[in-house]
Parts: sequence; C-alpha cells; structure tokens
Amino acid sequence: MSVANRALLQAPVQTGAWRRRRSSFAKNNTAMISSSRKATPLGRTTTLVPPRATSTSSEITQDAPTGIDWPNLDSQFQDQTVVQIMDKALELFGDGLAIAFSGAEDVALIQYAKLTGRPFRVFSLDTGRLNPETYQLFDDVEKHFDIKIEFTFPDEDAVTKLVNEKGMFSFYEDGHKECCGVRKVQPLRKKLKTLNAWVTGQRKDQSPGTRMAVPAVQVDPVFEGAAGGTGSLVKFNPLTNATSQEVWDFLRVMGTPVNKLHEMGYVSIGCAPCTRAVLPGQQEREGRWWWEDSAMKECGLHSGNLTAEQQAKQDAREATEEDIFNTVTAVDHAAIDALRLEPTHSKTTLAVLYAPWCPFCQAMVAGYEEAAASFAAKGVDVVKFRADGDEKEWSKENLELKSFPTVLLFPEGRGGFVKLGSERRDPDSLNIFVESIVGKL
Ligand code: SF4
Repeated sequence: MSVANRALLQAPVQTGAWRRRRSSFAKNNTAMISSSRKATPLGRTTTLVPPRATSTSSEITQDAPTGIDWPNLDSQFQDQTVVQIMDKALELFGDGLAIAFSGAEDVALIQYAKLTGRPFRVFSLDTGRLNPETYQLFDDVEKHFDIKIEFTFPDEDAVTKLVNEKGMFSFYEDGHKECCGVRKVQPLRKKLKTLNAWVTGQRKDQSPGTRMAVPAVQVDPVFEGAAGGTGSLVKFNPLTNATSQEVWDFLRVMGTPVNKLHEMGYVSIGCAPCTRAVLPGQQEREGRWWWEDSAMKECGLHSGNLTAEQQAKQDAREATEEDIFNTVTAVDHAAIDALRLEPTHSKTTLAVLYAPWCPFCQAMVAGYEEAAASFAAKGVDVVKFRADGDEKEWSKENLELKSFPTVLLFPEGRGGFVKLGSERRDPDSLNIFVESIVGKL
C-alpha cells in the first residue's frame, strides 16, 4: 500500500481517540494563539502555530522528553507510517519542535502534520536567493494550511561581507560551501538553538551517496538545541523510507500546493543560481551545484561533508580495515598503473577506486558485485583498486580520484579511461555507462 493510502487510512482526525490523545499543549496553545491573533497587525490568522520572528527557547511551553532510547524508537518507526512518526514527534516535543520547510516537496511534512490533528510549527530559511516560485509557494502554503511560517534570514553583516568581497556568484568559482555557510547554515544553527527538535524531509532515495542511512529519528549529530551542548537537539526524518513517487502520490491525492518549478523539471529545489532541472533518470540531487564534482556533494576525501558521528564511524572502520567488494578481483598499484598506461586496451575493464571504510563505497557493494557477475558473462573485466592511504595522492594525480567511490572504464581498442560522472552506480546505470562507451555488449 502506498504511503498516501496508508496515511489516509490512518488519518487521525477522523477518530475520537485521536482527539483525546492530543496533549495539553493543544490547550495551552489556545491562549497563545489567541494572543498572537490580537497582536498580528496584518490580521493573518495563526490557528496552529505560535507567533513567528520572536520564537526563542523561552517560548517553548513543553519540556523536552527525557530517558528516550532514540535508536530503539527509530527501530519502532521503521514499521510505522509517516503520520504515526509525525504524531509521535509532536506528542513528545509539542511546541519545542518545528518542521523545516524548504519550499520544495517537503511540503508533504506540513500535510502530514496537519493530519495528526496536533498543533505544529513550521520554519523556513530565506537565503535571499530563492526562486520567485518558491516565495509564491510559501504564500500558498500559509494560506492553504492557515499557518504562519517562521522565516529566518542570513546575518546582514555576513552577507554584506561575502558579496562585497567576492561578488554575487563566488560559489561558481570556489564552491558553494562558503555561501551556504552564510546564507543557510548559520541561520539554521541560530534557529535550531531555539528548539528541542526539528523535522526534515530527508529521504534515503534522494541521493544514493549521502542519504543511504537516514534514520527516522536521531539525536542530531551536528546542531545544538535550546538546552545547548551535544545531544540537546533531536532530528526526525519521517519521510526517510518513502520514495519520491509515494510522496508525489500523497501530494496529489491531498491537493497540497506544490512549487511550480516541479512542472518545469526541477526535482530538488534550492536557491535559484544553484538549482536546475534534471533529465529523466538523473538523480534528483544532480540538479544542485552541478558545476562541482558530483561526489563532492557527499563524502569521499572531503571529510568536512561528514557529520561528527559519520567521521567517528569512518575512523573505526578505517582502523578495522575490513575489505569490501569481496567477490570482485582486486588489482594492485602496478596492475592499475599498467592498465592506465596501455596505449590500446585489449579488453574492456571497469574499475572502482574505493576505500573500505567509506559508507558510500559500502552502499554500492551489492550493486557492484551484481554488475561484476553480469559483465563477466559479457567479456568485461570488473576490478577494484583500494585507493586510500598511501595510494590516495597518486590516485588523485593519475586516476582523477576526487572522492570515494570513483568508477573508471578502460575501453577495449582505446587508451586511457573514462570516469563515471554520475552518482548512479546501480547495475543498470553501470551497464548504460559501459555500453554508451564501448557499444552494445
Ligand atoms: Fe549560496 Fe547557492 Fe548555497 Fe544558496 S545554494 S546559499 S546561493 S551557494
């Protein structure tokens, strides 16, 4: 059964029991809402959320829960619907929790929150560089759900300094990290310091690299909450197990407003200069920061992209040195160098440059082993080359290694190699990659 159907079948607003389960926060919130109505000069209604712009930790009326075994709750969530996860999140944290709404298909989170029948808060980051369609969606969503989004903005001094020193489009030259840091991360960090928990629209299927292991709930490994310090913020990802198709089925059946950019081929929507439409079959995250190496968006050599928790896991894995791709032939430095230098390859060879501790390499093990078996029957050699440690610098210089995993094709009848430019490394995509270079196998 699809997420949409399951959600609808379990729509809690239709049951008396559900109403009884609403926390006292609902009652407390009534007074707060009334006062915010009186104080709203524009007369905008705020039936569900507290006043925006003045949201601080002191406004939270519900204490954060204590003694919760979050990994255990995450396990329980694996069998639950999005509505059930959202309901539990709201029950646990009340007005100490807010939904992060980016102006894209994560509008589904708001629809799911509405279905719980509980009060909820929504915040959004206005980076100052969003598309007009996204601003329109913010307005549509506020009206459709009768809510008031709590907008946050970048620090004026930081933006002024960045733009005056480096121009409006510095990210095309030296990467998006600095601009995102100023326009997104800093405001987000500030906002989260006013909360005990937040909800994101992250899904595992959004990127085969970075998002393969998104839990439904976790202690936020990066940001701090209102109480301050490690572990002071809880992060819910209720859509983690949903597919893009399921989310869109749900949005359609619920008549939820969506960003007009989706009709123009945009899938993952961010800032205007850094977002573009993707082609059919491309991963949705490939429409973001496309001028940078695709894998730089995830992990590999750029440990700054890893959370502290991921970094700790990576260090542990590196120490154990357990190998991966165990059914694939390993080649050593001399063999891959000889292959690289062959003037004309006598046979087509597909090679993965990997590090066994890299979670993104681990995520592609099953697919690559399956592809290796399939290619073997077609006369293509499939090999692996461990390119971390002492081999890393040499591989960067000679094999275009920028991040793990890197997939190279050495085509029969030609010299050199072709690097897979996409994040898609499933067997079908690898087959398309190989056949597009060497012809039908
Ligand atoms: Fe800047 Fe682009 Fe990041 Fe937006 S997505 S904050 S414009 S680098």
